[in-house]
Parts: sequence; structure tokens; C-alpha cells
Amino acid sequence: MRPKKVYLECFGCQMNAFDTEVLESMLEGEGFVISKDPSEADAILVNTCSVRENAERRAIGRLNDLSRHKGAVLAVCGCMAQRLGDRLFELVTALDIVAGPDSYAALPSAISAAVSGEGRKVLVEKDGSVTYRLRSVSGSSPSRYLSITRGCENYCSYCIVPYVRGTFRSKDACAVIEELGLLEASGTKEVTLLGQNVMAYRSEDCGFVDLLGRILEETDIERIRFLTTHPRDVDNGIFTLMAETDRICPHIHLPFQAGSDRILSIMNRGYTSSVYLDIIDRARALRPDIAFTTDIIVGFPGETEDDFEETLAMVEKVRFDSAFTFKYSPREGTKSAGLEDDVPVEVKKSRLETLNTTIQRIRMEIVAARIGSVEEILLDARVIKGEYQFLKGRTPHFRNVLVESENWNPGDTVSVVLRELSNFTFIGEEITGR
Ligand code: SF4
Repeated sequence: MRPKKVYLECFGCQMNAFDTEVLESMLEGEGFVISKDPSEADAILVNTCSVRENAERRAIGRLNDLSRHKGAVLAVCGCMAQRLGDRLFELVTALDIVAGPDSYAALPSAISAAVSGEGRKVLVEKDGSVTYRLRSVSGSSPSRYLSITRGCENYCSYCIVPYVRGTFRSKDACAVIEELGLLEASGTKEVTLLGQNVMAYRSEDCGFVDLLGRILEETDIERIRFLTTHPRDVDNGIFTLMAETDRICPHIHLPFQAGSDRILSIMNRGYTSSVYLDIIDRARALRPDIAFTTDIIVGFPGETEDDFEETLAMVEKVRFDSAFTFKYSPREGTKSAGLEDDVPVEVKKSRLETLNTTIQRIRMEIVAARIGSVEEILLDARVIKGEYQFLKGRTPHFRNVLVESENWNPGDTVSVVLRELSNFTFIGEEITGR
């Protein structure tokens, strides 16, 4: 009997991208073949996001679009599946399976059963002990993600994540080291450790900085990155490590969300702007060239012009390399959805514009100051731009670089001079290679 084919699609964040890789390795472990074409698949699985209403609307639209493949079992997983559960059968009538983020171990057998004609299934049990391990690695990529924590219990008042991803848990440290061994053997040079709050990592007596110490000792992974950090969990030890070795890349994504302490408190963020600035100062005292990126929300309920000015002031003080910026929109099921969304849309739009202009100005000042400098770039992919073929890579500070070269391949680390800018991306000229 020919092996069953399954086609996967993924919406959302890096955590979902990693989960999709885990699902692929689980399904292959159960004898499925991963197909790149939904029209030939026996089953179609879509991993979804729930961070904003729009993300759900897009996923539901895509599921209904994919339901035209009549012969295939249609399954949905991820945060939207957890949030909406069996309500999804009304929104996507061709749907067969709904599985939340803690139920993936049961998905391969549920899909097999559905392919053999068994009825609909809803798998949305929460299980705070679940952490998924990569059993195998398909393909070879110089840069990969690895989740080390799951879930979150911070309950920021605007955020749906704790309700869909469940309680916070850390993966066993030995399991992390073993997975890194698998990735290294597949040719990976750079790993981004993932979690909603990676610095809160703790497995028995192994905290986040201890884990990094083990990774530095027990693996030869060249570049170690991590994403995302909550200011409340920042451990000074990370900056000491960054000062001691370039293998821990000098870049931290540290969402601050708002500059006003009053708004931070309504957001239930658990820190003040002075605490946040103190983290930045401590980091720069130990590693002066460290780069920071962040997330910012404008137009949160009750935000005044003065509150917004405090957000702008924070951006000027910290000088972020870049930022993800959002207009506040209420999310059903979160605490702040109960607040009056009293900042007019026009005001949200103009604040977002002002904020983005400020961030882009600072970003350009930061990258322009690097022109002429020499940087080590890990090349991770080929890109075609017009008639030119480039190799794409990143500096240790997470800045994008394009290099034109016939000598090099993804996975190589090259020294380049940063010659010019194309928007915020450097065009580099190779010096030497290894
Ligand atoms: S820390 Fe806050 S914003 Fe981040 S995932 Fe947890 S609840 Fe959401």
C-alpha cells in the first residue's frame, strides 16, 4: 500500500514554524510522506495563529480554499484551533480534525484514522507537561529554530497567548543538547532558541544562562540566538556571556510595548520604563555594541498624548535597531478586551506613523554608521534581485547583508566590508572566506 501523503501549511510566529517542523518529523515517523502539493495529498494540515483577529480570518479563508481538495482529510492545529475548538466546524464545514498546541502527539494517528474514514475529532486538551522534541531533521539549513520553552503565564492584558498556548514549561536540558546535536549533524551553524519567555527557562537546577553555558561547552554551534525575552526575566549573566564570547550573538529582542508606566501597569507588563532602561544600561556596560529590537503597541485604551510622548522618548533613549509596531486592537478573551477602546482609529494611525518615522530615522542612523566596517556574515540563502544573484546573510547584530559572490554557498561564514545600503540592508563586498 502506498504511503499516505500529507501537505502542511503554517501561519504565524517562529514557534509555529518550529512546531510545523516537529509535526513533519512526527508524521514521517508514522510513515507519512510530506507533500509539497495539496492536490495530491491524502491529508492537509494547517497550523494557525490567533494573535490578532486578522490572522484568524486569513487562516479560515485559506482552510475554506483548501477544502476544494475533496479527497483529502482537512485538519487544523495551532493557536486558533485551541481558541475556537469545535466552533471551527461551522466556519469550515469540510474540516475533519481540530488540534490544539498540546495535542500534536495524537495528531498522526488521528489523521491516519480520518484517512481511513473515521469521523471528526477535536483534540484541545491542555497539558502543561508537553514539550515536543525533534526526532529527525529534514533537509539542511545553516540557520534553524529550536523551541526550549512553551506556554506563558504572564497574562499581559492584551495577549491571547496564555489562553491558547497554556502554562509555562521548559524542555529538559539534555533533550535540548541532543536536539542541537541533530541540528549540528544536519549542517546547522546558527540556532535561535525559542519561547515566549526564553530567559524564564528552568529545567531542574539549569536556568537559561546555565543552559547557554552547556550549549557553548557541549556543541560547536557557531552562533546562538534567542527569542523572545520578557524584561522581567532578564538575567545579567547573559550580558557577561555576551562579553566573553561572540558565539552568543550580541542582539536581544526585548519588547517594551509602551513608555508610560501607567499604560504598562494596565497592560500588566510587570515592569516600569526605568527598570527597562536600567536593563539596557547594564547590557551596554558589559557589551557596548549590543543591538536591541523590540515590540511596541500604540493606542492602548486610555493612552493620552503624554503617554505616547513617553513611548517616543523611550525609543530615542534606547535607539533600537528596529521594532515591530502595532495599533492596539482588542482581542476577544483577553483582559483588555473588557476596556473601552477609546483611542480613535485616526489617532492610532497618526501615532503609529510618527512612531515608525522615529524608528526608521534611528535605524538608518545606526546602519549608516556601519558603512565601511568589516563584519563576519553567516550566509544562509541565495536571493535573486533583478539580474543579480546574491547570497543573503546576517551580521552577529542581526542586520541583513547581501553579498555578490560565485565562490561561496549558504552555510559559509565570510568577512565582508559593508559597502553601501539598499534601504536597511547592507550590500557587502567579500574580503576572505572560511
Ligand atoms: S509575555 Fe505577555 S505578550 Fe508575551 S506571550 Fe506572554 S502574555 Fe503574551
